[in-house]
Amino acid sequence: MFKMVEVAANLKVIREKIIQASAKRLPEFSSFEPALVAVSKIKPAEAVLEAYAAGQRHFGENYVNELVEKSSNPKILEQCKDIRWHFIGHLQRNKVNKVLGVTNLYLVETVDSEKLASALDNAWPKFRNSSDSKLKIMVQVNTSKENEKNGCEVEEAPSLVKHVLENCKNLEFMGLMTIGQYGYDVLKGPNPDFLSLIECRKNVCHELGLDMKNVELSMGMSSDFEHAIELGSSSVRVGSSIFGERPTKT
Ligand SMILES: *Cc1c(COP(=O)(O)O)cnc(C)c1O
Repeated sequence: MFKMVEVAANLKVIREKIIQASAKRLPEFSSFEPALVAVSKIKPAEAVLEAYAAGQRHFGENYVNELVEKSSNPKILEQCKDIRWHFIGHLQRNKVNKVLGVTNLYLVETVDSEKLASALDNAWPKFRNSSDSKLKIMVQVNTSKENEKNGCEVEEAPSLVKHVLENCKNLEFMGLMTIGQYGYDVLKGPNPDFLSLIECRKNVCHELGLDMKNVELSMGMSSDFEHAIELGSSSVRVGSSIFGERPTKT
């Protein structure tokens, strides 16, 4: 059962941990206040309402239909005017219009190919509220090189970002995102996926002449968000530590 009371308490704990972890960063990584994206997938709309009432504004969903449903829930539309939805799942090109039609869509974190970037770029003018508003996107990188993970290869990231910057005038490049290997044991040292994303940003910035201060890193989840922040993450995606364990999908 979903317990309302705990959401606010959990959020408080996570926010405190984020502040503590932020204090341990190297100065070169401290240009961002790390953002907390509450991952509400598989959890009911009530969970979102509860977290929103506790001050949470950024929410992440990774199934298109669920994002569409929750974002159009009458109570959420009515009570959560400032909600900011992040799409963090794999996006197929035939679902682009569905995602772009989401009320209060804030950021698509999972752009992993030039074709997807171009599809988003072409479609966005039909959905945006004002003629100059760009769609915020991140490029997803498959740092763990696992076949079942989405994201572009580390080596491809500079050319994909270049494509976005040069050919997608309706998109605003915000940074790089990775999921990484599950269950990595931090006692073994810094998570290689996180190090790889940090290195990837360095290469992207070097090749394209960008300032690292303007390129965010979305990395870290319930099990490792503090570790990710200490290494320089600027946005963590936390689900089960806020909303409770999810039933395992069958
Ligand atoms: C589910 C999910 C999360 C959150 O995972 P937790 O371990 O529950 O914190 C973060 N990012 C992505 C892409 C996810 O699919």
